[in-house]
Amino acid sequence: MVYDSIIIGTGPAGVSAAINLKVLGKNFLWFGASSVSEKAAAAELVRNYPGLPDITGKQLVWTFENHAKGLGTEPENKLVTAVYDLGGRFAVAAGTDTYECRTIILCTGVAAAKPIAGEEAFLGRGVSYCATCDGFLYKGKRIGVLCFDKAFEHEAEYLCSIAGKVCLMPMYKGCSVSAPNAEIVMKMPKEIAGGMKVEKLVFADREEAVDGIFILRASVSPSILLHGLKTDGGHILADRQCRTNIAGVFAAGDCTGRPYQYAKAVGEGNIAAHSAVEYLAENK
Ligand SMILES: Cc1cc2nc3c(=O)[nH]c(=O)nc-3n(C[C@H](O)[C@H](O)[C@H](O)COP(=O)(O)OP(=O)(O)OC[C@H]3O[C@@H](n4cnc5c(N)ncnc54)[C@H](O)[C@@H]3O)c2cc1C
Repeated sequence: MVYDSIIIGTGPAGVSAAINLKVLGKNFLWFGASSVSEKAAAAELVRNYPGLPDITGKQLVWTFENHAKGLGTEPENKLVTAVYDLGGRFAVAAGTDTYECRTIILCTGVAAAKPIAGEEAFLGRGVSYCATCDGFLYKGKRIGVLCFDKAFEHEAEYLCSIAGKVCLMPMYKGCSVSAPNAEIVMKMPKEIAGGMKVEKLVFADREEAVDGIFILRASVSPSILLHGLKTDGGHILADRQCRTNIAGVFAAGDCTGRPYQYAKAVGEGNIAAHSAVEYLAENK
């Protein structure tokens, strides 16, 4: 089945794109790393969202979610790890599955971390974002697990149960993963290096030989997600119609640049959905 569109991201931009595609009667999927964007819910008090003065981030997100749910659309809790341009349609890898669609709406927020040197070059050759998808490839092998959030500890534990030796790098305090084959290293590698495949992690003071590295974070940098997508300083380049440099790919919200604000995200989500519908009509 080829969907009209796939929305990636569950923040205000993604919610707005989903509501608009639903109202416009399109057949789409909507993926997010969690059911609600943590960032969108984080505001203690929102004073600049029209019509809803003095609302908390949690309340605002709750109204967004309920609105979408009321229209019969809900996100699937899956991290999208790659989008492939197949010329006129796209293949989207989410969790362990792949889906096809004719347009993509990127609502991925600001990437929390810059990619590590070598991350992009070794993607699919030892760099993975998904323990359940690729973990089995590393049975009994040496791996690095770079974990950016406690929420991903179950994936780290799963990887420890499969791999022979794990260099576990939690990027937060209070990691509770403990496995006899895991060495905890509270440092970020400077580089992922190797030849045809990943061979080692390079730290400031030493190197660790590995067969692969799993990077567990809630987002994937846009240029890694979709090869050939033009970005500038981590932001996706998009015009006023939210069109990117790739035909059929639209971007909305914080991922397109400042100001990082709910109203801008929601407005661009609306524009991106309308632009996608226009594109679908013009490219039947
Ligand atoms: C503490 C705080 C207070 C704030 N206060 C205000 C305020 O008062 N007023 C205001 O206007 N704005 C405020 N903001 C900013 C506002 O929260 C953001 O501008 C808004 O959330 C942006 O929405 P977005 O949809 O573009 O991105 P986000 O809300 O960041 O959502 C992006 C979502 O996409 C998901 N995602 C990313 N990559 C992938 C992938 N590959 N696969 C699946 N999912 C993916 C992310 O996990 C995330 O859930 C505040 C932000 C913070 C942190």
